[in-house]
Amino acid sequence: MRITLSGNLSYCFGVRKTLTLVEDLLARNPDRTYYMYGEIVHNELVIRDLRQKGLSIIRDLTQIGPTGSVIIPSHGAPLRVFEDLRTRGIDVIDATCPMVRLIHEKAQRLEAGGAVVVILGDPRHDEVRGIAGHVSRALVFRRPEEVTPDALAGVLKAGVVVQSTFIREEALAILEAITTVVPEVVFEDTICRPTSERQEEVRLMAGRHDCVLIVGSRRSANTRHLYDLAAGENGCVHFVDDPEGIVGLPIAADATVFIASGASTPMSAVERAVELMQRRPIPPPAGEAEGKKNG
Ligand code: SF4
Repeated sequence: MRITLSGNLSYCFGVRKTLTLVEDLLARNPDRTYYMYGEIVHNELVIRDLRQKGLSIIRDLTQIGPTGSVIIPSHGAPLRVFEDLRTRGIDVIDATCPMVRLIHEKAQRLEAGGAVVVILGDPRHDEVRGIAGHVSRALVFRRPEEVTPDALAGVLKAGVVVQSTFIREEALAILEAITTVVPEVVFEDTICRPTSERQEEVRLMAGRHDCVLIVGSRRSANTRHLYDLAAGENGCVHFVDDPEGIVGLPIAADATVFIASGASTPMSAVERAVELMQRRPIPPPAGEAEGKKNG
């Protein structure tokens, strides 16, 4: 088996920065209560570990006690969350990724320029909710077929931004649909660089290997997108949410395998996946195998 590892494994810089900050705070101030508004990353292993270290993950702001600090994760949060916490005098640690913050700023500028903000992404994703919560009004589209004259009724100018981890081709297809309905469209490509690099690499390498393994949680949007991209290029793609499941995967022992991971996947999961792949049996040399077959 020949294994090729992605050059973009484990956390993106935004997630790594937030995780380092949180782990440092928990270690330095064991008596203080830290709340995280939503999940820091969509990965069960990471969340479990942080809970064990003392982090409280909340969605409802009324769950916050009188003391303690609230950490805003890399996905960001709507403005009303910051306002609510500051009005109540609660300490806020803003760990929004700089690239997500840039999307907030671009959306606000588009709105100030007279456009209705349109977000291309998953309306249920925390990042998309956060972007929408930085402007007075936002429309969200996840697929081109959602773009209808009714959905965009009254919109004469659309200011379009994209969820940082969205697939570029899908974003462009939705954008094209919008341009057929709205007279004026301003587009800001806000897919972040770490996401673009991962997506381009996976697409390229999926076509050059027999099989692809995508390591990460199914709850992570960017990891699911990598899977979808690889599956578009290769018929042998496996989602590895539990590295221990690798043992039973139907991959030929002499296959070439490309291993990639989502931006929220811990390195320990990638290392375990590689270790288990390497332990799979090595096929006998071709001549020897033939000899055995004929004999
Ligand atoms: S995926 Fe991009 S925008 Fe999101 S945290 Fe990572 S670097 Fe930041």
